[in-house]
Amino acid sequence: MEKYRTCTLCEAMCGLKIEVNNGIVQSIKGDEKDPFSRGHICPKALALKDLHEDPNRIRTPLLREGERWIPIPWNQAIEWVARKIVALQQRYDEDAFAIYAGNPNVHNLGSMLYLPTFTRLLKTRNRFSASSVDQWPHQQVAFHMYGHQFLVPIPDLDNLDLFVIMGGNPLASNGSMMTAPDLRTRLKTIRDRGHLVVIDPRQTETAKLAQEHLAIRPGSDAFFLSGILRYFFENNLIDQGAWQSYSENLEALHTFVSAFSYAEIERHTQIPTVDLQRLAQRFAEAPRAAWYGRVGVSTQKFGATSQWLIQAINLVAGKFDRPGGVLFPNPAAPLLNFISKGHFDRWQSRVSKWPEFSGELPLICLREEIETEGPGQIRGLLVAAGNPVVSNPDGARLEEALQKLEFLVCVDFYKNETSRHAHLILPPASPLERDHFDLIFHQLAIRNTVKYSPPTFPRSEGSWDDGQIYAALACSLARLKKRPWKERLRLAYMRRISPARQIAWALKRGPHGVSMKALRENPHGIDLGPLEPQAPANLPKGKVDLAPARYLADLERMKKEPQPCAEFVVVGRRHLLNNNSWLRHIPHLTKGKNRMTLHIHPEDAQTLNLANGGLAQVSTQTGSITVLVETDTAMARGVVSLPYGFSDRAEPETNSLFAHQVSLNDIIPLAADACSGNAILNGVAVEIKAVSEAKNT
Ligand code: SF4
Repeated sequence: MEKYRTCTLCEAMCGLKIEVNNGIVQSIKGDEKDPFSRGHICPKALALKDLHEDPNRIRTPLLREGERWIPIPWNQAIEWVARKIVALQQRYDEDAFAIYAGNPNVHNLGSMLYLPTFTRLLKTRNRFSASSVDQWPHQQVAFHMYGHQFLVPIPDLDNLDLFVIMGGNPLASNGSMMTAPDLRTRLKTIRDRGHLVVIDPRQTETAKLAQEHLAIRPGSDAFFLSGILRYFFENNLIDQGAWQSYSENLEALHTFVSAFSYAEIERHTQIPTVDLQRLAQRFAEAPRAAWYGRVGVSTQKFGATSQWLIQAINLVAGKFDRPGGVLFPNPAAPLLNFISKGHFDRWQSRVSKWPEFSGELPLICLREEIETEGPGQIRGLLVAAGNPVVSNPDGARLEEALQKLEFLVCVDFYKNETSRHAHLILPPASPLERDHFDLIFHQLAIRNTVKYSPPTFPRSEGSWDDGQIYAALACSLARLKKRPWKERLRLAYMRRISPARQIAWALKRGPHGVSMKALRENPHGIDLGPLEPQAPANLPKGKVDLAPARYLADLERMKKEPQPCAEFVVVGRRHLLNNNSWLRHIPHLTKGKNRMTLHIHPEDAQTLNLANGGLAQVSTQTGSITVLVETDTAMARGVVSLPYGFSDRAEPETNSLFAHQVSLNDIIPLAADACSGNAILNGVAVEIKAVSEAKNT
């Protein structure tokens, strides 16, 4: 029997055709009739079968007693957590209990609908997520410029003649903050009919596909981008289109980008001025062009300012809100109705005074908030589908801090570096046992489509999905906290309403008038057409702020501390089969040659006396790791690269393939972009020395 659903392992929303026989997955293929992905899948999709059938996947709540894990019934587990939270908050204060939400929650309908309800009931200010080691700058810039944290303009990928990708490697990531299946074909098409440019310290897989690769010095993106804008202003290349009528602060932007001379920019970026100016001229003149920056841009010292300048480039060059440029999606179930537009700096973290964003604190604060004594100290934590020990800089010390908690609860399928320290693990059902509707990624997609995926398999006996877990926790917490009866009644009602019914309501109120009945009749999904101009009507304040004060103020920091003075800096590296810090033990995702290698330019390796295949020690002020050396001409001189999301500290029985891996984040110092609070993971100074001669890998 064939079943259809959307893949939830990355942002691309590929349609899957799953052949099922006697309750077993026979095959997973691309669904050719899916109007969005048109039959495309990547090798990662097969991990859904491994995950579903893995005998090591935890299926019952496990309570730790000393060294033993005791299976307990769900109702007992939910009551245990709720009572622990209430007791802890009564003994100390509400901030004594914290929550961390990992990235998989945005791929999970139940989590999207019920986790926020549970989180609100906690009334804690200690809320964290993977967003602050990833895409916070995108969200904050969207909030400050357009008025909503998820109003992110998306490249009109199928209609571009010039596409500039900065700090992103879609051929390995499958795209991010730009939902588009089969990026290889789409990018090749742009290259073949126009021009594809990649700006990255490494000649990535995507850069190898492009006509042009500019090897920028890590951490200097803001300087390069301000140079592009400076060139526009100096050469009368500011578009005179409609965007000007609803945008403000153009002159402030002009002043900001005039602060650095081309000579300074060239010194910081190591990109010749002539190349910068040629690209600026080409971009301004191209009728159909877009500039896109992703994780490498966000996770650097000036990440937020860089993301702001990218938006400014698209705006002033006349590429904003028009076909063949960047546009806002218009999803059938509008995400903007589910998620607050955001807020900034309503309160600060207790120890280092970092401003909150949309109710969350930067993840880099988590350790100090656990370890620093005083009112508001974190003493209990719930980790919802995440692995912060691996995702966060200085992960080894965060792992030590977690062991000081009075209790840790993890919603997870496995014992990983984080959940192995839990007092209780709540394992959700397999992704194939729950229904799915993408709430987030239609808001970031290059085309408007809609699809509902029913569960591929009925729920196995005794298993709960994530939505059930959070709804039950919310109801128990409301009862124990003696919340008003009306609120408790509403929560009990909400718990009974299936996610599909909630989506049906959202669709009914949405702009396309799609019904759930229509979605059930169209299991491959429905095409709703290309992105179309919507501004300024869709902007909450009806205008765009071209130069928010927070980013203008960053100029002083750029002048004072432009670059780390270091012979070598490190950048992260992604592999197509990585799923962030999750699922690294799934056999399908771990096959092939060792990925945990230090990529370094051969001439740099020679200077350091490093042999290809030998061992090198890579050190920062935070720590040292020893890794295999792989010389690679794709690296810029003075830049080395290591993969992220690996570690050697997980449970041996579920992580044997990675028994001797290490984590890049173990040596990344705890530091964040002062403007956004987003972790700095790229452009970090490292020292490298040879440990051994080459050996066979
Ligand atoms: S590209 Fe992403 S969504 Fe598509 S099959 Fe691969 S993991 Fe799944």
